[in-house]
Amino acid sequence: MIEPLEPQARLDQIVKLIATHMETEVCSLYVLRADGVLELYATEGLNPGAVHLAQLRLGEGLVGTIAATARPHNLSDAQNHPAFTYLPETGEEAYATFLGVPVLRAGRTLGVLVVQNKAVGRVYPEEESEALETVAMVIAEMIAAGGLEGLLRPGVTLDLTRPVSFEGVPLCDGIGIGQVVLHEPRVVVSNLFNEDVESEVARLSEALTILRKSIEDMLALREVADEGEHRAVLETYRKFARDRGWVRRLEEAVRNGLTAEAAVEKVQSDMRARMMHLTDPYMRERLHDFDDLANRLLRQLIGQDVNGKDVTDAVVVARNMGAAELLDYHRGQIHGLVLEEGAATSHVVIVARALGIPVAGQVKGAVSMAEKGDPIVVDGESGDVHLRPPPEIQSLFSDKLRFRAERQQRYRSLRDQPAVTRDGTPIGLQMNAGLLVDLPQLAESGAEGIGLFRTELQFMVASTMPRTGDQERLYRAVLDAAGERPVTFRTLDVGGDKLLPYLRQSPEDNPALGYRAMRLALDRPGLLRTQLRALLKAASGRAARIMFPMVTDLSEIRAARALISRELEHLSRFNYVPPRSLEVGAMLEVPSLLFQLDPLMAELDFVSIGSNDLFQFFFAVDRGNAHVATRYDDLSVPFLRALREVVRAGERHGVSVSLCGEMAGRSLSAMALIGLGFRNISMAPPSIGPVKAMLMALEASSLSAELDALLDDVSQAGTARTLLEDFAARHAIPY
Ligand code: PEP
Ligand code: MG
Repeated sequence: MIEPLEPQARLDQIVKLIATHMETEVCSLYVLRADGVLELYATEGLNPGAVHLAQLRLGEGLVGTIAATARPHNLSDAQNHPAFTYLPETGEEAYATFLGVPVLRAGRTLGVLVVQNKAVGRVYPEEESEALETVAMVIAEMIAAGGLEGLLRPGVTLDLTRPVSFEGVPLCDGIGIGQVVLHEPRVVVSNLFNEDVESEVARLSEALTILRKSIEDMLALREVADEGEHRAVLETYRKFARDRGWVRRLEEAVRNGLTAEAAVEKVQSDMRARMMHLTDPYMRERLHDFDDLANRLLRQLIGQDVNGKDVTDAVVVARNMGAAELLDYHRGQIHGLVLEEGAATSHVVIVARALGIPVAGQVKGAVSMAEKGDPIVVDGESGDVHLRPPPEIQSLFSDKLRFRAERQQRYRSLRDQPAVTRDGTPIGLQMNAGLLVDLPQLAESGAEGIGLFRTELQFMVASTMPRTGDQERLYRAVLDAAGERPVTFRTLDVGGDKLLPYLRQSPEDNPALGYRAMRLALDRPGLLRTQLRALLKAASGRAARIMFPMVTDLSEIRAARALISRELEHLSRFNYVPPRSLEVGAMLEVPSLLFQLDPLMAELDFVSIGSNDLFQFFFAVDRGNAHVATRYDDLSVPFLRALREVVRAGERHGVSVSLCGEMAGRSLSAMALIGLGFRNISMAPPSIGPVKAMLMALEASSLSAELDALLDDVSQAGTARTLLEDFAARHAIPY
C-alpha cells in the first residue's frame, strides 16, 4: 500500500496480492463514478482488457447490488443468483463462488471489491470476508485522498466529488451559501496499520476501559441526584460499551492489522451503512447511540477535542442538535443549518429562526455525504440542499439571494404601513420571541408587539437555573425594548420536548402528555412564584401581560391567579410599585378547553391558541417526530372548525383571541385565520412582511363568507387548502 507506485500499478498490485493471499482466481475492484456507474478499475484474473471498460449501473448485477445496499455478498453459486449479470468483456462466467464487499467510507459506498473462484462449493469463511472489508476500507481512504484521480477519463468524476441535491423540509426561510461544517465532525483516521498487534489490542482495551469509566462517572453523577431524562440514554451507552459483539469485531479488526482507531472506524462504517437501510425508528435511534459511542472512542484514541466553534461562512450540517449547541457557534458566521432530523417546532429551529439562519430539516444522508469545507447551498424556502453545486446552481442561488434581499427591502417599505385588509379590517401582527437576540427584530419587522415571549428559552440555554435577578433583568430588557408595544410573557413551559438538564425529571413514556408546564409549575410553585415575582417587578409601573401554557383545566387558572395575587401582596408589603395594569391569559393548546370555552373565557383577559401543541393533541401527532409531524393538514376542515369556535367564544365574552403557533407565520394559513375571524396573530419576525403583504391584498369579508360556507356544511370533511389557494389565485393575493 505504501509502495511509491503509480495509481494504476498500485491498484493492480493490490488486487494481485489479495488474490494470492486469499487463494482466489479473481480479484477485481469497481469504483463508483459520479454518474452512478461502477467502473472496473483493476482486476487479477478477469480479462485485463476490460479494465476501465466494463461497467455496471448502481443496483445492476451482484456488484451493483452490493454498492446499492452497502452489504457484502458471500455466494457459493453466483451465476444462479437472481441478481447475477454477465458482462461478456470480462469473461467471468466460469466463476461460481463470489465474495463482494462494499468499499465504504463513513457509511458511503465508493466502490466494490470482489474475489471469485471457479470451484463450486468453495466457501469464504467469515474471517476472509472481514479481511476483505478491511482492505476495502484502506482502498476507500485512497479514493477519498484523491489517489485515483490520475486514472479518470476526461469528463468523468468519481462519486466522492459529485454534486448532490437533497429534498428536505423547509424549517426556516432564507438562503444560505457557504461551506460545510460538520457539527460532529468525523474523526479522520490517518494512522491505519498497526506495527504490533498485541500492543494495539492493549491500547484498544485501555481506551475501552476509559470510555466505560467515563460513562460510569456520568451515571454515578445522575445516581446521586435522582433519576434524570438523560439516564435512559446513558444506560444504553453503558450497555453498548460492554457489548461483546462490538468489542470482538473491534479486536478482530486490530488482529487483521489495523490500528485501534482504524478498527473503530471500520466497525463504525459498517454500522452506519447498515443503519441507512433501517426503517424502524427505534432501532435507528439505538444505532445512532452506538455511532455516538464509537465517536467518543475514536476521540479517546486520537486524543482529539470537540470541534473548534470558530468558523467562517459556515453551513452547519448535523444529524440533530440542541438549541444551546447552535448558540455555541459564532452567530454572524453561520449562513445556514442542515439537519437530518428536526421539525418546524424543534427548539434548535426556533432559535435558528430567531437568529435569521435558514434551515432545512429531514435532509436524509447529508451528514455522510458532506465533507468539511464542501461548498453547499441551503434553500430554507423549499427545503432543498445542494451539496458541491455545479456553477449554474451556485449562480442561480446567488441571484436568488439578491432577489430576496430586494424583496426584503420591499417588505421593509411596508413596515411602517398599517396592517389593514383591503376591506379595512385592522389586523394586529405581533412577533414571537424568547431571547435578547430577538429584540432588534421588533423594529426590523414592524411588529406591533410581542405576542408570545417564551420564557423557557432563557432557561434552556443556561447551564444552571437562572436566578430571580437574571430573570427580572431579562424581562425588564424586553419591556424596555418594546416601549409602548405590548409584551405577552408566557410562564415557564418546560417538560415535554423542552428539557432543562439541571431540572431533574423522571423518565416518562409520553413526555408530551406528561409532567410538564402548568402541571409541574403548580406542584412545585417555588419556581413559578419566583418567575411571577420577577415578571411583576420588571413590569413595575407598566402594563403586564402574563400567560399560562398548557392549561387543561380551569382550576389551574385559578391556582395560578392565586399565586399572582400572593406575589402582588408580597410586592406591596415591600413598597414596590406594582404594574400599571395586569392582564392574565392562557394558551389554548389542549383540546379539553375547546369544550368549556364559555367558562374559560369568563376566567381570562385574553386567550392565545398554541396551534403547534393544539395540532399535536388534536391529531395525535408528535410535533417533533419527523415521520408524522407533517402528516395532517393544519388547514383541514375539522381543525379550522375548532379554531373558529374559539374566536366566536372570544367575541361572545369580549376576550381577545390570538394565535401564536407556527401556522400564523405561513401566509396561506394566516389568510385562513383572518377568514375565521382572528384579528390578532403572533409569528416569527421574518414572517411579518409576507403576511402583511398578503393581508393588504385580502378582502377579508369575502374570504370569511366562502370559508364559513365550507365549514358550516356538516357534510364537509377534508381540507380547506384548495379553497384557500383558489381564493388567493382569484384575487391575486401573494402568499
Ligand atoms: C404552540 O404550542 O403553538 C406554542 C406557541 O408554544 P410552543 O411552540 O412553545 O410549545
Ligand atoms: Mg405549546
